[in-house]
Amino acid sequence: GSTIGIIGGGQLGRMLAMAAARLGYRTIVLEPQPDCPAAQVANRQITAAYDDPAALAELAAASAVVTYEFENVPVAAATALAAKVPVYPPPRALDVAQDRVSEKTFLNGIGIATAAFHQVDTDDELAAALKAFGGSGILKTRRMGYDGKGQRVFRNMEAGGFAGTCEGMGNVPLILESFVQFEREISVIAARGLDGTVAAYDPAWNVHRDGILHTSTLPAGVAPATARDAKDAATKILSALDYVGVIGVEFFVPADGSLLANEIAPRVHNSGHWTEAACIVSQFEQHIRAIAGLPLGSSNRHSDCVMENLIGDDVLRVPALLAEPDLMLHLYGKAEARPGRKMGHFTRISRRG
Ligand code: ATP
Ligand code: MG
Ligand code: MG
Repeated sequence: GSTIGIIGGGQLGRMLAMAAARLGYRTIVLEPQPDCPAAQVANRQITAAYDDPAALAELAAASAVVTYEFENVPVAAATALAAKVPVYPPPRALDVAQDRVSEKTFLNGIGIATAAFHQVDTDDELAAALKAFGGSGILKTRRMGYDGKGQRVFRNMEAGGFAGTCEGMGNVPLILESFVQFEREISVIAARGLDGTVAAYDPAWNVHRDGILHTSTLPAGVAPATARDAKDAATKILSALDYVGVIGVEFFVPADGSLLANEIAPRVHNSGHWTEAACIVSQFEQHIRAIAGLPLGSSNRHSDCVMENLIGDDVLRVPALLAEPDLMLHLYGKAEARPGRKMGHFTRISRRG
């Protein structure tokens, strides 16, 4: 079989490598951190920075196709690589998703609603933007944020008195988003094949704890029309980006059942881990199928389920979890359980369809 290149060696890369192996592919991982979760599974690791030209040339030469497991792959590196070997998802998806302003502008441009937003580069612009939102909003770094890092919430603030806020956020480009009063958060995992076929999984209801995904629950408990709209929006995004591979799309669902897209992740997504336990074809296999030019598999869900992340010391629950029937456990092979670190996850099957 041929070799699939993966940029990034975390748990998502590891799960992609496992799915690739099961379909008979070899994998090669580019990751600066030695003995990373993905390298324990992949056939080979190139231990170098993600934008190291020699390493990228080596990856291109060794791979039939290259993919990535995180959205902050340098766009220039992905674009240079794409001149030598197919890179999926397309580097444009990285470009759009890496900046919250370009992401929302793209979504609004294809008719998908988001929270209202303003670009903020100075304390005065922050004051004006907050005033426009009636004193409430979420200030976020435009780039590099994850797990709720690089965010600050403002509630019912009078405009003014913001001296030093932008500096406190690191003097980087910022965005102020209006504060969305949502009933729940959902996400759709969807895939688009090389032939343009799309397969979308049912939306999951996502609950966060300390800014990190805690649980994803299926079914999501939203109206059928809302679930359909979410899948349709994901499909529209995939087509507009001429996308190949799996994408994760996060939404807010206000009480009226409408949808506001929050962000897109051009990769397999934590809120899609449930698919390995409740679908015949997981998001990981679906991604490998898509980028390898194979037909997509079914995205049907055969069971209701709840996926829960194991963060830091949560791994102490493993012995008890192993004793449960109808529970699929997945550990990432990380030696040290630091606070906030994703160590694994499990999915409880609650009802078989
Ligand atoms: P991720 O780890 O999902 O990539 P992130 O750091 O990119 O997270 P967001 O998804 O933008 O951050 O925000 C984190 C969480 O903060 C959201 O899941 C939601 O609960 C809350 N949140 C973000 N933006 C808004 C908003 N405009 N209105 C209300 N709540 C919000
Ligand atoms: Mg994000
Ligand atoms: Mg998010």
